[in-house]
Amino acid sequence: MTANNDIFSLHESKVRSYCRAFPTVFTKAKGSLLFDEYGNEYIDFLCGAGAVNFGHNNPIIKESIIQYLENDGLVMGLDFHTQAKREFIRKFNELVLMPRGLAYRMQFTNPTGTSVVESAIKLARKYTGRENVFAFTNGYHGMTGVSLSLTGNRGNRQAISYSNVTRLPFDKYLGSGFDELSYYRKLLRDNSSGIDLPAAIILETVQGEGGINVASEKWLREIAELAQECGALLIVDDIQAGCGRTGKFFSFERAGIKPDIVCLSKSIGAFGVPMSLLLFREDLDIWKVGEDIGTFRGNNIAFIAAAKMLDTYWNGFDFEEEIAERAAIVKSFAQGLADTYPELIKESRGIGLMQGIEFYDETLCAAISKSCFSNGLVIERSGERDQVLKIMPALTIGLDELHKGLQIIDLSLGQVIAKIAATQNIERELSSVVAS
Ligand code: PLP
Repeated sequence: MTANNDIFSLHESKVRSYCRAFPTVFTKAKGSLLFDEYGNEYIDFLCGAGAVNFGHNNPIIKESIIQYLENDGLVMGLDFHTQAKREFIRKFNELVLMPRGLAYRMQFTNPTGTSVVESAIKLARKYTGRENVFAFTNGYHGMTGVSLSLTGNRGNRQAISYSNVTRLPFDKYLGSGFDELSYYRKLLRDNSSGIDLPAAIILETVQGEGGINVASEKWLREIAELAQECGALLIVDDIQAGCGRTGKFFSFERAGIKPDIVCLSKSIGAFGVPMSLLLFREDLDIWKVGEDIGTFRGNNIAFIAAAKMLDTYWNGFDFEEEIAERAAIVKSFAQGLADTYPELIKESRGIGLMQGIEFYDETLCAAISKSCFSNGLVIERSGERDQVLKIMPALTIGLDELHKGLQIIDLSLGQVIAKIAATQNIERELSSVVAS
């Protein structure tokens, strides 16, 4: 008979990834806690890579889904008009768009992050009649076709064609002395630069997979001006940084910009269920009927969950204060760690509950993440060498659990350092024995 744990390695493709970093078999999840079949409990600082910002099995959202199902509410409805969708559209408009002075048309695209990006680029190319797209170093936009061509990581892009994308240095990529905007502008104004005018400029205001790189408000505003100047559409990929992750509903709010197109996915489904939402200026709605479709664009469970999430957390601005309180705790912890270990930690950075600690040595970062897991914390890494420990707790995490999770990072770092020191001592002793 096959042991329970062997089933995965015997039958599931080698492509599986997160499960390798957290090698157990999970059974339950509640709020910020995950449970496995061996009776272990873990605090979750990964949060489904930003897809469960409101905690696992959030009881308020869960109740609304249960009620909907008990009423035999329509679950699979292609893009039928349903009460659930109407409620979501109404709430999203009233509670999110209007209070922020935004007027966007909503398109429910295929329900993954990568597909909403595909739709955004398709629309921008159709609207402008241009092919080229400006994307940035360390950007991550997904793993399919066009989205993959926009992704920076060489390993991810492999042999896929990534023509018609101009890669530009992200804010501070070349150090703080480099004037990126003058460089972009020169490329656009010089008819011999070899760079085609872009249909769109796509960016993350905080690069999540790229290593928690926070674009400055000034850079964001200047990019928005540049897009307008050259007739390109500004697309903010808010798939990971949106839905409250950086402290406000949209991550671009802090810069006071209004992108032409916004991509949402991950936590917009509120309960960890698939849903994506493309927002765009009303005059960009030039699609022909059925021109950008797919089967699963009407996940009514997600509409129910998302409407409840909006009602519960975004009816006013109190929730932003709760996020800010938690963010301040994480930020001061990360800065404290960086101050204590300047020889190991290059920098701590982030915004809201999207914080990172960058280590000089990626193997140390990997060892800490591994040790955290043994100590009861699920935490991931990001960056081009996976050298950044990425702290992304649920926005709703209890303060006790938050402090406990941070203590586990501290403890695990101490244990890893002690282990390295012990190994170095043994090596020193061995070499002195060999030498004598
Ligand atoms: N865009 C950003 C900013 C992301 O962080 C991700 C996933 O991490 C994606 C796009 C792709 O989303 P998905 O994995 O759902 O295709």
